[in-house]
Amino acid sequence: MDQPTDNTTFADLALRPELVEALASLGYEEPTPIQRESIPPLIAGQDLLGQAATGTGKTAAFALPMLQNLDPDNRSKNPTGLILVPTRELAMQVSEAVHKYGRALGARVLPIYGGQPIGRQLQALGRGVDVVVATPGRAVDHIKRGTIPLKDIVMVVLDEADEMLDMGFAEDLDAILGALPDTRQTVLFSATMPKRIESLARRHLTNPTTIRIEAPVVAKGDAPKVRQLAFIVPRSHKSAALGRILDVESPTAAIVFCRTRHEVDQLTETLNGRGYRAEALHGGMNQEGRDRVMARVRSGNADLLIATDVAARGLDIDHLTHVVNYDVPSAPESYVHRIGRVGRAGREGVAITLAEPREHRLLENIQRVTGDKIAIEKVPTISDLRNRRMELTLGTLRETLLDDDLDRYRSIVESLTDEFDLFDVALAAVKLTHESTTGKEDEVEIPEVEIRRSKDRKNDRPDRDGRSGRSERGERGERGDYEKKGKKGKDRSIGVDSTRLYFPIGRSSQIRPGDLVGAITGETGLAGKQIGSIEIGDKFSLVEVPEKSADDIIKAMKKTTIKGRKVVPRRERFERFER
Ligand code: AMP
Repeated sequence: MDQPTDNTTFADLALRPELVEALASLGYEEPTPIQRESIPPLIAGQDLLGQAATGTGKTAAFALPMLQNLDPDNRSKNPTGLILVPTRELAMQVSEAVHKYGRALGARVLPIYGGQPIGRQLQALGRGVDVVVATPGRAVDHIKRGTIPLKDIVMVVLDEADEMLDMGFAEDLDAILGALPDTRQTVLFSATMPKRIESLARRHLTNPTTIRIEAPVVAKGDAPKVRQLAFIVPRSHKSAALGRILDVESPTAAIVFCRTRHEVDQLTETLNGRGYRAEALHGGMNQEGRDRVMARVRSGNADLLIATDVAARGLDIDHLTHVVNYDVPSAPESYVHRIGRVGRAGREGVAITLAEPREHRLLENIQRVTGDKIAIEKVPTISDLRNRRMELTLGTLRETLLDDDLDRYRSIVESLTDEFDLFDVALAAVKLTHESTTGKEDEVEIPEVEIRRSKDRKNDRPDRDGRSGRSERGERGERGDYEKKGKKGKDRSIGVDSTRLYFPIGRSSQIRPGDLVGAITGETGLAGKQIGSIEIGDKFSLVEVPEKSADDIIKAMKKTTIKGRKVVPRRERFERFER
């Protein structure tokens, strides 16, 4: 999706036509680096050990070769592919992806996780399944009951293996892998490669191809001097957030990079609706269409170019002031390449990156590789926007007043002042100007997502205690449902000696901050004021508590219920980044 130099296409990777078509219909223009590197050895049947984080496109990197193996005409009831993932949310997300990629092949995909009635899973298995996506605990349950036939498995994937080990699934993984046919192909993806992963790989992989998606370090001074900003925004609010950011930044000309053609088309429509002159550019357009767009951008008749990397490759636009990454680029070198389009020849440039909460890790990686700081900023609020719009109106009126061509309107003002106060006439004129220059008001609140980096939290205990690690997953599964509930805008943070606990209960269970505070204070003797900010998502909540009380709270919550449900929190893993 954003590799600047390589022109490999999905078809070049020898994927079967049904898959190439599925990818085209999803608007994917080119393989990501991890896909480019992993797909050929996987299709060739090799084992693979890959280091890649969320957001790099790793799901397709293993799902496509797995689907490549499916026989469209002659399939048995038994699964041929098994994907092991740490959490329920990831199981659902990965099975959705496999289903999406394998639709034309009629791929039958089944997510299997704890908490779901086992009967439904048994029925689906009885009807026949090609790919099972399972959490290790539930997979072991099925293996013990003999309800997952494993004898035809040809490929097994361990996705986010470091998380699975962190969550205490090591023995389950050994048991599952030990129960699979020796002939199967084994793939292991992990964001980090601690010793325990290497040893797991040694036990279960045979002569694996090793892939590590990490960019070469950019030499100091090579990165352009550009003001670099990032905004953490839930997916469902991204286009609104970008609109606001652009309103405040007022770029002369900007290029906005998106991952897919669909994203390009949708965003172009949204931004045009907001009054921008935005033009779409992607690989699905013919040369004539592209030339027309570029002519409009170069002549200044369009202020925003919304493009995929492929389409924007090699383009040089002189007067660009802003580069926007609508998603975090999957590789740091791609980020460097993109932002290099501004800030040239001593001109000022701004690079803006929108990251979903779960993509925070990629952002940290880019900073580490480039050695540049990316300032995390808050999305402009409705009131910031109003102020900005008022300034614009003021500026427009000032310019008009300096213009000497006002006399022809004198008769209108004179006839109005017979009836109205002159000041009120002026106010009405200002209102009209305001509405016509700034468009309609955008009143949707964009929830604020606050992420603290690991280095801001030096005093925190290193989180390797084996039970954490789901909040990132929570957000994966509940994109766009992230909501911050502090007390009426007050900063309720309780400082650096705090940590956040992930409670697997949220708005969909009518949970309110008071319920969480009540449960914690009632069970632990902690005072309400010792509890910091509370964020409520659709299916989970994050509660900031003093670090030293975290374990006691986890223990105490095991003995009680919230809203009639047992809700055991765990430490949030969000700000734990191995360096
Ligand atoms: P993952 O790292 O697998 O969670 O993927 C991150 C996001 O990138 C998902 O929303 C995918 O749909 C998207 N994606 C994966 N591969 C590509 C590609 N080649 N081009 C565009 N988007 C992609």
